[in-house]
Amino acid sequence: MSAFAYLDHNATSPLRPAAFDAMVEALQAGGNPSSVHRSGRTARARVDAARRQVATLIGARPTEVVFTSGGTEANNSALVGAGRKRVLVSAVEHDSVLKAARGMEIMPVDGNGIIDLGVLEKSLAGSAEPALVSVMFANNETGVLQPIADVVRVAHAAGALVHCDAVQGAGKVPVDLRGLGVDYLSLSAHKLGGPAGVGALAVRNGAPFVPDRLGGGQESNRRAGTENLAGISGFGAAASEANSGLATTEWRNRLETALLEIAPAARVHGAGADRLPNTTCISMPGVQAETQVMALDLAGICVSAGAACSSGKVTRSAVLLAMGVEPSEAETALRISFGWNTVSEDIERLIAAWRDLYIRVGHSGIAQARAA
Ligand code: PLP
Repeated sequence: MSAFAYLDHNATSPLRPAAFDAMVEALQAGGNPSSVHRSGRTARARVDAARRQVATLIGARPTEVVFTSGGTEANNSALVGAGRKRVLVSAVEHDSVLKAARGMEIMPVDGNGIIDLGVLEKSLAGSAEPALVSVMFANNETGVLQPIADVVRVAHAAGALVHCDAVQGAGKVPVDLRGLGVDYLSLSAHKLGGPAGVGALAVRNGAPFVPDRLGGGQESNRRAGTENLAGISGFGAAASEANSGLATTEWRNRLETALLEIAPAARVHGAGADRLPNTTCISMPGVQAETQVMALDLAGICVSAGAACSSGKVTRSAVLLAMGVEPSEAETALRISFGWNTVSEDIERLIAAWRDLYIRVGHSGIAQARAA
């Protein structure tokens, strides 16, 4: 049995050995892809190869892929670069979308976290100002998949452009730029086993794009700055491997069935919607998420509480609140996410530790709440 079970792939996925090897090779070779001499040409060839690998993952043309410093930058630059004054987003977007544009209009979601297409349609019809609609492919906390093709149909009919944050979907389920019909699509390497600090924005050929980084002419004038050669090489290798090993629902179903048997009052958030096969967001009745995370950590299991916490502090999940979950229940939600190096023993270990904790704390917690 491994030293610990890492079940927090939606926060970051461990570096795949193939990505590590590609990065070491690129670091050793070095070179600036803009240089015309042989060292530059070799570096350029690595960037081009990675661009093809990333493009293949999302059914894009290599010329449509713009490398960035990660998903956050990709989201920020799409929201600004589309050049639309009016921006409509779903209530469950990642902060890198929600905080990227001023005065954006927030579209409500239903109890499963799915955007209300009727409200979107009405809002778009309510103004002649050309808009950008930004809706994520899959939610980072619940794994709930949005009906992107329907969003595109409604938005394009109203003359709006569409951005999709596919950071959590790519590498886990098929994501196809052309099939979805979106104009912009964001990716992040570290969510699929590549390094942190590198990502991409796919800009559909013909979609307007005003770069927010000015300087050299890198990335066909769409993102200035010398390319992160090692990071991009690692991203390409990870994208290529992720593409051939997409997740299945077997372990998620096993886990959810077992946890609901242990605690029938537990609730899987977004269970009524299509979800990523690697993600479970579940509330253990009566037990604060922070307590669960700490207890599971002591048992050698890494999972997240509610929203991933950038400052080390756990806050109540805005995603669950937008879905209408009571604050007291949102505080008990745990996010479990599998990935490329997960083995079935990890799942069994989590089930056993969750059972122990529930017997120790959950029952008494509920009893106390009832007695109060
Ligand atoms: N979008 C979503 C849905 C995410 O989950 C994350 C990371 O948590 C990001 C964007 C940001 O990506 P990055 O960490 O590469 O900046």
